[in-house]
Amino acid sequence: MGLFGTMPGISGSIEVVCGPMFSGKTEELIRRVKRAQIARQKVQIFKPAIDNRYHETEVVSHSSQSMEATPVNSAVEILQRVFDSTRVVAIDEVQFFDENISIVVEKLARRGIRVIMAGLDQDYMGKPFGPMASLLAIADTVDKIHAICTVCGAGASKTFRKNPKESAQVLVGETDLYEARCRAHADFFGEDQDQLAFFANLNANLNDSRSKIKNL
Ligand code: ADP
Ligand code: MG
Repeated sequence: MGLFGTMPGISGSIEVVCGPMFSGKTEELIRRVKRAQIARQKVQIFKPAIDNRYHETEVVSHSSQSMEATPVNSAVEILQRVFDSTRVVAIDEVQFFDENISIVVEKLARRGIRVIMAGLDQDYMGKPFGPMASLLAIADTVDKIHAICTVCGAGASKTFRKNPKESAQVLVGETDLYEARCRAHADFFGEDQDQLAFFANLNANLNDSRSKIKNL
């Protein structure tokens, strides 16, 4: 056994792909799974049963790529369903799972399994989504990817809910409810005017200090 209880040469890993809606998380998950399959590794894909937007038993990307997946109702159910021969476990929409997901993926990695997860890092208010903060902390690799802001075309790291009056954190929806936005256009709290004023002040102070330095 290795230093941390894993067998030498077959240690597992924990990978997280995160970002807002439409950033390509599911595409990236599918890309990694396909490569593992090319390497003839046995892969199992899981998704939370709550997310049945596109298909009950498939993970589906916004660019219509799809793969068979097993819907599960809890994190622990993943542990019960992984076969001894499985080398890679992929989990999409991982933000919808309970906090036990961290323990589950640690256990799988300790068994030598490569765990690939994709999920929303932030909810529609820009706050860490469910278990994501813990998962990002324990991951061996984290890839934070961007969508395109629907307002200005910049890189988008936020998921904007079109109707903020709907305040449930979990409101499963699509382009009808959500769009990708950059930080400047994800005005979650109506604070953008305050922010602009803050930066205008900061600039004025900087210019002031610069002219003082010049006059020294
Ligand atoms: P995620 O799983 O992160 O929601 P997907 O992998 O399902 O993302 O879909 C990514 C695809 O979504 C892109 O390749 C593109 O075709 C499409 N798309 C639609 N709207 C946007 C957007 N605003 N920014 C980037 N890609 C978008
Ligand atoms: Mg997705």
